[in-house]
Amino acid sequence: MTELLRSLSPADPRDEIGRYPVADAAAIDAAVARARRAYPAWRDAGFEARARVLRRFRDLAREGAEELARLVAREMGKALWDARGEAALVPAKIDATLEDGMRLVAPLEAGAGARTSVQPRGVLAVLGPFNFPAHLPNGHVVPALATGNAVVFKPSEHAPAVGEWMGALWRRAGLPEGLFEIAHGGGETGRALALHPDVDGVLFTGSWAVGRALAEATLDQPGKLLALEMGGSNALVVLEDADLELAVAEAALSICATTGQRCSCARRLFVQRAAIDEFTERLVRVLHGVRAGPPLAEGVFMGPLVSTRAHEALARARALARDAGGERLLEVDPGLPPPFAGPGLVRYADTSQRHPVQREETFGPEAALYAVDDLEHAIAAANDSEYGLVASVFTRDRARYERCVGRIATGLLNWNRGTIGASSRLPFGGLRRSGNHHPAAVASTLYCTYHQAHLESSAGFDPASLPPGMPRP
Ligand code: NAD
Repeated sequence: MTELLRSLSPADPRDEIGRYPVADAAAIDAAVARARRAYPAWRDAGFEARARVLRRFRDLAREGAEELARLVAREMGKALWDARGEAALVPAKIDATLEDGMRLVAPLEAGAGARTSVQPRGVLAVLGPFNFPAHLPNGHVVPALATGNAVVFKPSEHAPAVGEWMGALWRRAGLPEGLFEIAHGGGETGRALALHPDVDGVLFTGSWAVGRALAEATLDQPGKLLALEMGGSNALVVLEDADLELAVAEAALSICATTGQRCSCARRLFVQRAAIDEFTERLVRVLHGVRAGPPLAEGVFMGPLVSTRAHEALARARALARDAGGERLLEVDPGLPPPFAGPGLVRYADTSQRHPVQREETFGPEAALYAVDDLEHAIAAANDSEYGLVASVFTRDRARYERCVGRIATGLLNWNRGTIGASSRLPFGGLRRSGNHHPAAVASTLYCTYHQAHLESSAGFDPASLPPGMPRP
């Protein structure tokens, strides 16, 4: 009997959104085979024909944005304002890809008779995370389809309904059969799909642990493209000359957006000693006032965590912070049962960051606060991490920020802006454990394609071209 994946709202487990068949090995084989069959015609259809389908998808996604936002909020629990923000990113990805993204994969012209053509990779598996269940997989799917690939998508097990919604939209947009296949399930399904010999590339957004497992599992398939967007332990630096109101507002947003479940959330706050007391007092006040509640209710800033497991993991991390010597400054009781959680803040006496809880990604509205002496101390402390996704620097002095450019080891570095939020017209990807040098967002067309190099000539045989000692044919 087919196993079923039940989708339950984290805000109310009695609210069942749907049941979806888990893809077993035979179903994965069949989905990959359908994608493989559909791929050549789509590749050969040419860019304009593909762009027409993508633009129809964009228009439908705009019309359906509110419906999608409500489904995202209900299924994975983010607050409606946040889900609306996500839903707006889905159609926006089309123009960003068709305009800027395609420019990055223009063929090379290297003089007479030397050029490249840009080719799709074939069948690409997309493994989606729960936290942006529409936008992030879409960020892989759109460039994959635009450049002529076929996709097999495994939505997060926490958001299968959103995956189905996206599939229905592609069908309505007129995408030919087989080019957007869905395989539901959890880690086992993801692994089986990724390892399938007929899958040419794996576009993954998720945790370091799973990205690492995928890299290990595909060691014997070195030709398989692996684009890994993974976690972060993002630093937010506040110098003594910063606009503190701005720094506090951006820090609070960066800690709590999506209930702290963004890869880009601020986890480590490094504040210059002269400013730390005032910064802390204001931040605690703001975090206290953050409103948690049912995601579909208006006026709610943050919904629940995605699951009771996620809630337990946050509680464990908070207990470990105490063992690590952290002084708890704040743990807000949301006044609602798990998996609802309130913001938390812990302060450490120095920046040594030796305990694993200070180094691992805690996926919830929780941050650690450290005092730093000066800018150089802040840079060194920010860099004392296995991750390298985003960092922010708050200072009125542009030169002090510029000192961090290229010195803080991250894929994204912001000035007087929080760690969350990113431009879809820029690359999005991290260093170290945060990525494997295949950034997404505008750069996503790059990993969906490869250059085939060509030496070409229409001239006939020229005897003068023969090297000495080679007889004329
Ligand atoms: P996750 O790693 O648990 O799961 C991601 C996807 O991988 C899911 O579809 C899951 O079913 C699948 N999966 C799980 N085990 C697998 C395995 N062994 N083989 C193949 N697939 C497997 O991540 P999550 O909890 O859904 O998302 C949160 C994580 O994602 C956080 O670490 C966050 O920082 C990260 N994230 C990164 C980015 C980025 O762009 N860098 C963006 C969003 C989220």
